[in-house]
Amino acid sequence: MFRTSIISEFKNRETPFYYYDLALLNDSLNQVKGLAEKYDFEIHYAIKANSNERILAEILKAGFGADCVSGNEVKRAIECGFAPETVLFAGVGKTDKEIRYALEQNIKAFNCESIQEMEVINELAQEVSQTAEISLRINPNVDAKTHKYITTGLDENKFGINQTDLPTVIETLNGLSNIKLTGLHFHIGSQIMDMNVFKGLCLRVNEIESWFSDRGIEIEHLNLGGGLGVNYLEPDAEPIADFETYFAIFAEFLRRKTNQKVHFELGRSIVAQCGSLISRVVFIKNGLNTNFAVVDAGMTELMRPALYQSYHHINNLTSNGEPTSYDVVGPICESTDCFGKAIKLPETKRGDLIAIRSAGAYGEVMMSRYNLRDQNEAFYSE
Ligand SMILES: *Cc1c(COP(=O)(O)O)cnc(C)c1O
Repeated sequence: MFRTSIISEFKNRETPFYYYDLALLNDSLNQVKGLAEKYDFEIHYAIKANSNERILAEILKAGFGADCVSGNEVKRAIECGFAPETVLFAGVGKTDKEIRYALEQNIKAFNCESIQEMEVINELAQEVSQTAEISLRINPNVDAKTHKYITTGLDENKFGINQTDLPTVIETLNGLSNIKLTGLHFHIGSQIMDMNVFKGLCLRVNEIESWFSDRGIEIEHLNLGGGLGVNYLEPDAEPIADFETYFAIFAEFLRRKTNQKVHFELGRSIVAQCGSLISRVVFIKNGLNTNFAVVDAGMTELMRPALYQSYHHINNLTSNGEPTSYDVVGPICESTDCFGKAIKLPETKRGDLIAIRSAGAYGEVMMSRYNLRDQNEAFYSE
């Protein structure tokens, strides 16, 4: 949890702010790195989970590549020192400007999500006399068994190319001389806790890979995306995601040919637990049926609860009173601006510091200035 010396540091700072425990981040990175070496897997960090430059610097030191979903993420990755040949660019709606920029930077590959996108990348690559490497993002129709807003690999989702379109994809590719198909890409969702889902993904990927090899198409890269979940309920019980089980499943069930490279794009599982949103209690308000702890952080700092009803564990860092129930709410003029209902906290008063835990992924990156909110600098401990 939090050392007393860290809590004293918090007291001197203007709230709300993000706090990052870099030692924990490095423990996670070392674990991923060790397993990736053991199994000969390549890791690309999904920049969208947290693009804070201080965090990226640590990830870069671990030697991972970058997975980007916008032109500006490609730019951020390269500016922070990621080698272009380790940068992948995914996303359903890449604009011409973004594609041109990525071509200019000579990134490793585009993860293509539609037939039209292949045609456009081909055309833009032709203009600058390049051959762009592409992976096809295929929708494997595997249910990630996660929240419906973060499921991406079902037929009804907007992501990826459906398997029924693959014959047309192959036909189209034959006419496109400025793109080269080298890989298959899959990403079925996020915050996946059921490890059987990953086994199911492997089996489907094996089938799809065979479909290509039966047609004489050699696949150099298999990219399994990200999606490994973290323990939001008890962050102190499980500060590091279960990378061991996760990678072992792919090592066991993914059929891999000699020379085939296997890639992962992990975001949340690497950064979620090292971040907390630190906030002060502004008022305690006794409602008719419930007590409200009104804090100075809101959905503008951490949107996940308002966006997909996510749970974040909350600690009061400065009280050890009797457990009492509170609805912990922010100051923003929206009823969804609520971090938790009927949360048991030690008796809480105006001025107490609270930590909203597991906020390192999809937290700071989604900050907005709605209500013209101030944005405070993050704070880091080594
Ligand atoms: C968001 C995303 C990831 C990372 O997902 P996590 O659940 O954060 O691990 C990986 N690949 C792609 C294509 C993504 O869009």
